Amino acid sequence: MPRSDPVAAPVAASPIHAYPASASLEADAAVYRTLLESTLAIPWKIDWATMRFTYMGPQIEPLLGWPQNSWVSVEDWASRIHPDDREHVVNYCVAQSIAGIDHEADYRALTADRGFVWIRDVVHVVRNAAGEVDSLIGFMFDISERKRIEQELVKMQKKLEALSFEDGLTRTANRRRFDERLEAEWETARRGARPLSMILLDIDHFKRFNDRYGHVRGDECLVTVAAALRKIGRAQDVVARFGGEEFVLLLPDTDEATALDLARTCRHAIEALAIPHEASDCSTFVTASVGVGTVVPDEGERARDFCESVDRRLYGAKQNGRNQLLSA
Ligand code: GH3
Ligand code: MG
Ligand code: MG
Repeated sequence: MPRSDPVAAPVAASPIHAYPASASLEADAAVYRTLLESTLAIPWKIDWATMRFTYMGPQIEPLLGWPQNSWVSVEDWASRIHPDDREHVVNYCVAQSIAGIDHEADYRALTADRGFVWIRDVVHVVRNAAGEVDSLIGFMFDISERKRIEQELVKMQKKLEALSFEDGLTRTANRRRFDERLEAEWETARRGARPLSMILLDIDHFKRFNDRYGHVRGDECLVTVAAALRKIGRAQDVVARFGGEEFVLLLPDTDEATALDLARTCRHAIEALAIPHEASDCSTFVTASVGVGTVVPDEGERARDFCESVDRRLYGAKQNGRNQLLSA
């Protein structure tokens, strides 16, 4: 059986037991040193009494650019931490060391060329026979790649979250976002006894529009209408696609008169886009019917009922001949 086959090697033949008993400590030290200085982790040692480095691995220079012998005292270490990380990292490490607790800290280490590298410093507190802190030894790990991936993940997560609240076609808030904001604004209005208003719009004869101009033009129409509504919405308002060709504006802290004004503006703005709609019987352009309502939510009242009451007005506007607005 070949000696290099580690799986087949019997346990009794483990090389650990094969070490000659005469191996000198000096030889061991040389081996350990070679091992320490050839790993990616950078070893270091600080004498507790003087707060000075008694050792710093040579790998530090290729990583950060500061020469190995420039690491003299803990001040050198502290001054080479990014200013945004310095105070809390130094305070934390000093506190842990004084308490004699092994610890680790992530921070941005400054490089000689004015950049930085993300470091994880893993620190072991060494005590003497009397139990007093004698020195600190540790390893610095370059965790830039891990940090980069972490940051990338956070960015992607945020993007995904934004996308999950956005309507893919019109880029307005989607129904899910609207439902969520409605619940939140309902609670805020109820607690503050403030008015909450809503404008619901439905494009008139949109099925005919699609039939006449095709779905691509239909989609373009929805995008254009959504953009016009977004312009009308104020910073605090939620402009969302409620469903197919229906849009909604949720207006926090908005009274009836203001909501009515905004609703009129919306209806006029859509007609003013002057998107031809030859198949409509209420205008030569694309128009919308609009329902609008205002409520000061009461205990026991439900947001969904308010939505339905505004929807009934929208339905009423349709019944009355479309391209118009119905309020309370
Ligand atoms: P009304 O005036 O009574 O609202 O009539 P309408 O034709 O607008 O209403 P209806 O509910 O009968 O039809 C809505 C149409 O909207 C049907 C559907 O194909 C179209 N629609 C819904 N979502 C989209 C979309 O994303 N793109 C396109 N192009 N059309 C859509
Ligand atoms: Mg509809
Ligand atoms: Mg419609």
